[in-house]
Order: sequence, then C-alpha cells, then structure tokens
Amino acid sequence: MEELITIMFFIILISVIIAILSLRYTIRLRKYLEEFIYVSKKISNKEFHTRLNISAKGELGELAKNFNEMIEIMDSTITEVEYNHLQMTSILKSISQGILAIDIDGNIMLINEEAKRMLKCSKYKTIEGNNINLVIKEEKILKEILLFKSSKKSKKIEITTEEDIVYEISLDPIYLQDINNIIIGSIINIEDITEKVKLENMRSDFVANVSHELKTPLTSISGFVETLKLNENIDINTRNRFLGIIESESDRLKRLIEDILLLSFIEKKGNALLDSVSIYEVFIEVYDMTSYMAREKNIKLLYEFEDKSLKVLGNRDYIKQVILNLVDNAIKYTPENNKICVEVFKKDESIIMKVIDQGVGIPQEDINRIFERFYRVDKARSRDVGGTGLGLAITKHIVKSLGGTIKVKSELGKGSEFTVTIPSKNFL
Ligand code: ADP
Repeated sequence: MEELITIMFFIILISVIIAILSLRYTIRLRKYLEEFIYVSKKISNKEFHTRLNISAKGELGELAKNFNEMIEIMDSTITEVEYNHLQMTSILKSISQGILAIDIDGNIMLINEEAKRMLKCSKYKTIEGNNINLVIKEEKILKEILLFKSSKKSKKIEITTEEDIVYEISLDPIYLQDINNIIIGSIINIEDITEKVKLENMRSDFVANVSHELKTPLTSISGFVETLKLNENIDINTRNRFLGIIESESDRLKRLIEDILLLSFIEKKGNALLDSVSIYEVFIEVYDMTSYMAREKNIKLLYEFEDKSLKVLGNRDYIKQVILNLVDNAIKYTPENNKICVEVFKKDESIIMKVIDQGVGIPQEDINRIFERFYRVDKARSRDVGGTGLGLAITKHIVKSLGGTIKVKSELGKGSEFTVTIPSKNFL
C-alpha cells in the first residue's frame, strides 16, 4: 500500500514538473510569436531595419536567425532596386529628348517629363500605367504611335504641330530580352528640331537669295558685253552708256560679294580682334567718308557726342561698319534738303548711339524684317541707291557680338530712328 502511494506521489510530481515546464515553454513560445508578429508588421510597414531579438537556442533560434537573414537580403535588394529606379528616373529626367515606352496594348510603361510636355499629357491623371489614348493630347503624334504599335520595323518621322513645332520621332519595337521575335511594346524618342529646321531653311533660302542676287548683275553684264561684241558699229555714246552699266553692275557684284563674305566671317568668328575703340574717332572717319553724299543731296549731317572719350571694347573695323551702315542708310533713304543726326551718350551703364533721319520711313509691317538678309522694303529703291540688302543683317550681327541690341522706330514719310545699345561690360 505504502509502495503504491510512493509511486502515485512520483507520478503526480513528474506530472506537475511536466506541466510547469510546458507552461514555461508555452509562455516563451508565445513571447517569441508576439515578437515575430511585431517584427513582421514592421516589415510590412517598410521598416526594413527591424530585426528579431530572440536569443533562443535550437530550432527556434535557427528560425529566428533565418528570419533575420531573410529581412537583411530583402532590405539590401529593395535598396538596390530603389537606387536603380532613382538612377533610371534621374537619367530619364536629364535627357533633353522626350522618351516614352508603351506596352503592346498602349499602356505607358515609362515616360519622362520632356515627353509629357511634348505630348501635352493631361495634368490631372497619373500618366504611368494609363493608356496613351487617355493621356496624350497631341493628336498628330498619338495617331502615329497608334499606327506603329506592335510593328516590327523601326520608323523615323517628322511631324509639325499646330503650333509650328517640328518634332523628329523615332519609333522602335521593344523585344523581350534575348527573345528576338517577341515584341512587348514600343519605345518612342521625340526630339524638338524646330530650330534645326529653321536654320536649314534659312541656309537654303540664303543660298537661293545669293544665287539670285548674283545672277541679276551677271546677266546684265553678259547681256551688254554680248551686245557690244555683236555691234561693232555702235555709236560712241551708246557704247559709253553700256560700259557705264557694266561698270556699275560690276561694282554691285563686288559690293555683294564683299558683304556676303563679311557676314559669313562675322557669323563664324564673332568679334575676333578686340581693341579699345573710340566711338568718336571712328564716327569722324565715317563722317569723312559719307559727308560728300549728304552734301550732294543737301542733307545736313549733324552729330552730338555727350562724351568724346567713350570707348568700346570690340573690333575696330566692325564698329566702323555698324556706324557706316546706319549713316549710309540714313543718307540713302532720306530725300534732299533734310537733316540727319547722330547722337552718342551714356545711359544706365550702357552706351547708346542713335541715328535719326527725316527720310522715307519704314512701314510697320516691314520693321521686324529689315534685319533679315536680303530683305528690302522697296527692292527697286534699294537697288537704285546701291543697296545689297545685307547692311542691316551685318549690323545686327556685329551689335549682337558686342552683347548689345539694335532697335528701330519709324514713321512712314516722316523718318526713322535706329538705336544701338552696348552694355557696360563691353566698354571702357
Ligand atoms: P540695303 O542695302 O538695301 O540698304 P539694309 O540691310 O541696309 O539693305 O536695309 C534693309 C532695308 O531696310 C532697306 O532696303 C530699306 O528698305 C530699309 N531701311 C534701312 N534703313 C533705312 C532708313 N534709314 N530709312 C528707311 N528705310 C531703311
């Protein structure tokens, strides 16, 4: 009986010990579970720096270690992905061209700010992920992209928008990496080539104009030479008149070629040789060169210098050319018995030079065009007075190379006022 009681006692004792141990284990397990839940919640809140703080041994310890390592890998992978994304968006942002990538259904996979602006993407929608039909408002380009979608052959096109912006658009298929015949979308590269096209047009216009301008006097010269050759008995007066025409047409050719060369030289080299140039001294040289023309038309050529010691940092010949072109034009386009005044003074840290005439004036609609090469308000009049149509284009280029501006005010039949402003950094 006593033996039975002892056995029973031991059984109860062992059961109590097992119960206590199980309870302790359950409490510890619960604590670890709570830690797991807490950490996993933090991870799902993107707090990847959080780690399990479990110092358990055995399988639980192994699990905690593996869990922490998993977070570590996840953390570094996400940091890498974020860095790559940042790199990609920075590159896309820095590209001056518009870049757009779409999937096979026309959903936007990638687009940079430049492309959003060029394609007039609606500002109120999230662009990425949306269909091009919903966000692109530049109809002409949208039409081309839709036409190209899922095409296998790259394409390059030029589009002029309603606002006269010229875009060069390259459309290329996107192939699934390493698998050449599976297309997953298109990549579109848009470049604004408005300025380039304008320059090309200007260049070809210039070539056409030059050829035309050179052809006119040449045709006239060869015509008169031919006439003189064929008519040996031509009377002396007619012969002299013809020779006179040949001479003046040759002079015109020479002036034209000189002006064309000067213009291209200035365009290429800017203000090459810089000197400290006295405006007054240069003006007096121009005065000596032109006053006889003014006298012939009984035009008073007046001048007023606030400070005769004013100096400009620039190329002497070019500065002389500016003054000469403006004074020469004023005399050419002013009828007899009037006056012309040249004023030079300092204002707001700039040198101002005004050439004011009482001439024929310039119609308002032509005012903005007179600085273009070969633009002449009245072609016949310009030709009669020996103009090449390049004087003001040359003048504007020189003034620009000095960092200055040239403006004109004019009233038809009353006269014109040309104002050249040269900023302080360019005078001494
Ligand atoms: P051009 O050699 O024909 O004078 P410019 O380039 O010097 O060429 O001038 C361009 C045109 O601007 C001239 O043909 C003329 O119609 C007009 N113009 C220039 N200066 C004057 C002026 N002072 N008064 C009236 N018209 C002018």
